Amino acid sequence: MTAPGTICYYDGRFGPLAEARVPITTHAFNYGTGCFEGIRAYWNEAAGCLQVIRLPEHVRRLANSARVLRLQCPDLESPERAQEVICELLRRNAFRTDVYIRPIVYKSGSTIQVTLSGIESDWCVYAVGMGDYVDTKDGLDVLVSTWRRIDDNAIPARAKPTGAYLNAALASDEARSRGAAEAIMLTGDGHVAEAASSNLFVVEDGILITSPVSDDVLVGITRDCVLRMARSRSLAVEERRIDRSELFVADEAFLCGTGVQIAPVRSVDGRPIGGGRPGPVTTMLRDWYQQIVRGQVDDFSEWRTPIAVATADGGATAGAAGAGGQ
Ligand code: PMP
Repeated sequence: MTAPGTICYYDGRFGPLAEARVPITTHAFNYGTGCFEGIRAYWNEAAGCLQVIRLPEHVRRLANSARVLRLQCPDLESPERAQEVICELLRRNAFRTDVYIRPIVYKSGSTIQVTLSGIESDWCVYAVGMGDYVDTKDGLDVLVSTWRRIDDNAIPARAKPTGAYLNAALASDEARSRGAAEAIMLTGDGHVAEAASSNLFVVEDGILITSPVSDDVLVGITRDCVLRMARSRSLAVEERRIDRSELFVADEAFLCGTGVQIAPVRSVDGRPIGGGRPGPVTTMLRDWYQQIVRGQVDDFSEWRTPIAVATADGGATAGAAGAGGQ
């Protein structure tokens, strides 16, 4: 059996990751003209299968990003086909750990011209084993970045263009070099947008508040999970502009995203949030989210797509379906 993580999808077929190479003339390599997704699948030991979280929503956002960047990709024209490629990749890699999946749609043609039209496109997918990539248990110290979040009129903020992540990298790098775990980014006109690569919620008087989708945020899928979870427990939620100084007076704050999951914020710009430790609303949501994505509760079971993984005897694990199996 192949070692987990060594098979990728590239150039229209599955093959060794080590052999997947992009020529240096590739348009996307020169100009950042690609878009991508970050998707998680969690290994469910009890069910003996991987469960991909909100796969249809991630594929839909990838297709939307591709449309914004004029990336043509036949596999993405059928969401079922794109989902099936991702599921098959996981099956072939036979992961038995939590996994991070990275599809990229990109301008694969070679031209010096800076444009979006008339350039060949392709897509590829790889996956790596991944647990919690930052230790978020006690809460994160964050700083408001001196870098502003990309404006939707500069680079489409609701897409995930590869090139746009220079903005996130500048902000994260600045935060880390100043001793913080992550950066909070403001819009061009100085309101809170989101963190460098996750969305932000604050809790004030029991109300969950997050920036509106019109404030240059990525419309996060975990953000949507949080909104749905909160509403299902009758917690008040507001999508409205957040002032910078609201961060300092919030009772609680947390980041959410596929990678970071739900991560409490314990300080902003050196000022402790709440008691400087994860608050009750954040803790409830963080723990419940973990139970949902790990399939330990029946709530929101439609968010999980189970994947049959090959067993040592060459069979498939029971109880798991293919793409869109739930
Ligand atoms: N904002 C940005 C800029 C991101 O890169 C991400 C990660 N995809 C998020 C928010 C969170 O989005 P999601 O919950 O869909 O992962």
